Amino acid sequence: MSSTSHATVRTRFAPSPTGFIHLGNIRSALYPWAYARATGGVFVLRIEDTDVERSSQEAVDVILESMRWLGLDADEGPFFQMQRMDRYKEVLAGMLEQGLAYRCYMSQAELDVLRERQMAAKQKPRYDGTWRPEPGKTLPSVPAGVQPVIRFRSPIGGSVAWDDKVKGRIEFSNDELDDLVIARPDGTPTYNFCVVVDDADMKITHVIRGDDHVNNTPRQIHILRALGHEPPVYAHLPTVLNEQGEKMSKRHGAKPVTQYRDEGYLADAVVNYLARLGWSHGDDEIFSREQLVEWFNLDHLGKSAAQFDEAKLRWVGAQHLKRTDDAVLAPLVALQLHRLGLAAPTDERLVRLCGLFKDRCATTVELAQWLAMYFGEVAPSTEDLAAHVTDAVKPALTSLVGRFSEIAWDAASIQRAFKATLAEHGLKMPQLAHAVRVLVCGRAQTPSVDAVLALFARDTVLARLRAA
Ligand code: GLU
Repeated sequence: MSSTSHATVRTRFAPSPTGFIHLGNIRSALYPWAYARATGGVFVLRIEDTDVERSSQEAVDVILESMRWLGLDADEGPFFQMQRMDRYKEVLAGMLEQGLAYRCYMSQAELDVLRERQMAAKQKPRYDGTWRPEPGKTLPSVPAGVQPVIRFRSPIGGSVAWDDKVKGRIEFSNDELDDLVIARPDGTPTYNFCVVVDDADMKITHVIRGDDHVNNTPRQIHILRALGHEPPVYAHLPTVLNEQGEKMSKRHGAKPVTQYRDEGYLADAVVNYLARLGWSHGDDEIFSREQLVEWFNLDHLGKSAAQFDEAKLRWVGAQHLKRTDDAVLAPLVALQLHRLGLAAPTDERLVRLCGLFKDRCATTVELAQWLAMYFGEVAPSTEDLAAHVTDAVKPALTSLVGRFSEIAWDAASIQRAFKATLAEHGLKMPQLAHAVRVLVCGRAQTPSVDAVLALFARDTVLARLRAA
């Protein structure tokens, strides 16, 4: 792509900070971020906080925290709509002056009467244009004491259409769109108007957002054109459904994005999972952030609703954990151990422990649960003790303790000590190894027992075996 013939791509994420951000919401940040990164473009963050009642700083913080965790860094912003009120009012004044918008003094009671009349006549309720200026039309006289709203002068006749990158061509007849209120009686601008002014001012070239906004788009295109701008490219992403097939939402049990961090998922795994939830690159299921940024485009977006699948997320989590450098995992696991109340220095041993156990885990929390036996006490269950630490094995355990006290403390020497003990007592490896695992690790299944033991301090192993 030559930079002279193509304008820079500019995308945005425009969340409303109203309390909660789940995986479905943050996907609307990931795609514009990935598209900006894939095209060398600019990703803008805009906080749509004009619903003062429902917006909160806490919700803003959660959005920023979730984006930071997933590495969705904005190049510009966050911009806050509440800080742009003067700009909206300036544009409103300009539109009134140019006749692109007009004051409407119809009261709520009159609107209600109009609506009832239209409903009775089986018509779609819409504003009837009473206050819309037309050449040669005499407007009603302005009533005293009524604060007017400002309405956008929407085109009459014809249609408005766009080629959606997800849904293909979408067309609305202009007759379906009445003159939208763009400022309330107290002068505050309305939602669709602010979005348009911002998208224009921020020079957004690609609007990638949830398809719950499809019905706003024809109105936004009209206002944009009235202000002298060409509409951006639109990609309306299908809804994300939860495992029950309902729209993902807090009410339907969705978890906040940060909970996946707390559950120990790697950020890159969640990015990978979300990227595949509505976009594809051939058959590739597992990819890195770098590959995503190399491959992402708007030509392979899924057309149907995507369904969240926790088992699949776990699988993606496990694949990423497996592929992540042990040295990168160590500090993350140290943090999770700390949350379990266990102090684990991020040293060479922890790095090796991560390498030994990571193949069995989907999250750093699970990895920490495995490693807890190295940093805290273990409590074998009575069932495991009864099943594995039997009278038949106990004499062999005593011999093993003797050998363990004398050898060099490494996996090869530990294995030799096992073999000699098995030969001496006529036992099979699983019998002795299970007993050792239950006593030292608190569980009967682990990776290769010599490797597992070699990473303990010898004294810990001896003390736990002697407790039999
Ligand atoms: N603030 C809107 C929302 O959270 C998004 C608006 C947009 O992307 O145009 O649903």
